[in-house]
Amino acid sequence: MTDLEEIKSRLDIADIIRGYLHLEKAGANWKARCPFHNEKSPSFMVSSDKQIWHCFGCGEGGDVFGFLMKIDGLEFKEALKILAERAGVKLQRQPSGDYAKEKNKKEIFYEINEWATKFFEKQLWGGTPASKKIMEYLRGRGLKEETIKNFRLGYAPKEWRLLRKFLNSKGYKDGDVAEAGLIINSIRQPAEKIQNFDYHDRFRGRVMFPIADIQGRVAGFTGRVFDPLFTKEELEKQGKYVNSPETIVYNKSKILYGLDKAKLALRKKNVCILVEGNTDLIMSHQAGVENAVAVSGTALTEMQIGIIKRYTENLIIAFDNDEAGNLAAKRSIDLAMRGGLNVKVITIKGAKDPADILKEKDGALKWQTIIDSSQGVVDFYFGDVFLKYSADSAENKRKITQALLPVVRKVQNKVEQYHWLRVLAEHLNVREEFLIEALNSIKVKKTGSYGGTGEKNQAVETRDAAGENLIGLVIKYYESGHCDLNLPENLSFSDARFGEIYDCFLSIVKNGKKISDFYGELSDENGNLVKKMIFIVEKRWEDETLIKNDIDFLIKKIQFRKVKADLNCLALDIKKAEAEKNKKEIDLLKKEFQKLAEQLK
Ligand SMILES: [Zn+2]
Repeated sequence: MTDLEEIKSRLDIADIIRGYLHLEKAGANWKARCPFHNEKSPSFMVSSDKQIWHCFGCGEGGDVFGFLMKIDGLEFKEALKILAERAGVKLQRQPSGDYAKEKNKKEIFYEINEWATKFFEKQLWGGTPASKKIMEYLRGRGLKEETIKNFRLGYAPKEWRLLRKFLNSKGYKDGDVAEAGLIINSIRQPAEKIQNFDYHDRFRGRVMFPIADIQGRVAGFTGRVFDPLFTKEELEKQGKYVNSPETIVYNKSKILYGLDKAKLALRKKNVCILVEGNTDLIMSHQAGVENAVAVSGTALTEMQIGIIKRYTENLIIAFDNDEAGNLAAKRSIDLAMRGGLNVKVITIKGAKDPADILKEKDGALKWQTIIDSSQGVVDFYFGDVFLKYSADSAENKRKITQALLPVVRKVQNKVEQYHWLRVLAEHLNVREEFLIEALNSIKVKKTGSYGGTGEKNQAVETRDAAGENLIGLVIKYYESGHCDLNLPENLSFSDARFGEIYDCFLSIVKNGKKISDFYGELSDENGNLVKKMIFIVEKRWEDETLIKNDIDFLIKKIQFRKVKADLNCLALDIKKAEAEKNKKEIDLLKKEFQKLAEQLK
């Protein structure tokens, strides 16, 4: 048995999926509302028998590995590791040497972070005068107790060695705790000379935000200074925010704050809202807008864009209403568009940031309204530049054109481009022709064009549902002992694997072999495909009397499909021959066309 089979045989797919969805019994199977598309009644089915899942609404489906990869946005290797652990299967290619050591270290760091999170939480809920003040502050910012618990916020007391002592008491060495980023040595000395008493807590007198990775494990922390605990001089000497350093478990360019809680909503709503700060994110989730993640104090990176793309291609950027936020938004827009995302922008007016809006009465409603009215990127740039310069001097007009023409140049759709040119011409009170001339002299990079969103995705592959149903039905029909199948030799399917399966099945039927022989002859991949097909038809054709009838119907449908495709090809050939005035060829093709068209009658 391979590792994969071993893992599958030891786990029940329903148990794994139950960790994510509420499963209800449905005959021999389980059903739930699909996490991958929006639906009111459940069409997501899980079969413990076949160890597969399938959604009859959106057509997604697969085995337990596929489920984990899709729902957690994991690579196959990551899913394999997680499930191997769950199943207690030792993977055959054991990590060795440095890799094993590093893996061990990672686990220790996660443990240390988990203990630290518990420690900070306990301090916050401890009821001391300082912690009461912090709770007051958090409530004042609009956070509910439930939310504070859910995001595991905490408090690092203004002490020097409290956390260090606590972690030591749990058996963790200073060296590891320091490397995990929770304690630091203030006196710069070579590592071998550092003595224990040199270490002190990194986070002191701060509100603590644990930063979780995609699976919800705490990878690092952000600590916001709690002002009332410090004198003015002390405050000036330290940053408002202190972050954990990069460690082997905390890769800042990869982690998005809140993603572990947002991932399901990202899929369902098919759009990701990107905010700047941790509090913006928490408030958004509290208000029920859960498809939001935060960059958390750093600029958006290419890796983060790649991660967002696992869930959705649509991004709405909502950055703070200040100079820094505006700059960060522009940088993020360009990067996200180059990364292939469809980008929209939220401009926050009359408030500092999303958290500010969400704190207000009716904040949730306001936030949703703002999201719904997010602008396209060109709108955003126009609004931004018009606000910055008034078009009252030649100097300013030049600045406006310099800023906006490159933006207009990137708009792909010509009608749209002309629209923006006119807006600009009217605003500047100049003639369009001048702008067009200037526009044409701007060179534009191939990547990152604006507008025309969605066009590139139109050529989505369509599933061969008829083929899928036919193969599932004939196998089921044969399996239940019927021998009156009359299957044509040549059927063409749009999926090559379907053809392989069909041909294999045909030879089994012809030679009167058993169905178990059929399964034995299939490759693993095709075997899984067949399982899925049977699962699908079992749900749809519970009434067996219809099966024979529908098999004949599906065969006709697939044959017609082929004839139609051939006719299309012939029509093209005829056109070509006509253009070349090749009379002999035209006659030949037309005859063929008529013969073929007869079959459609
Ligand atoms: Zn679905």
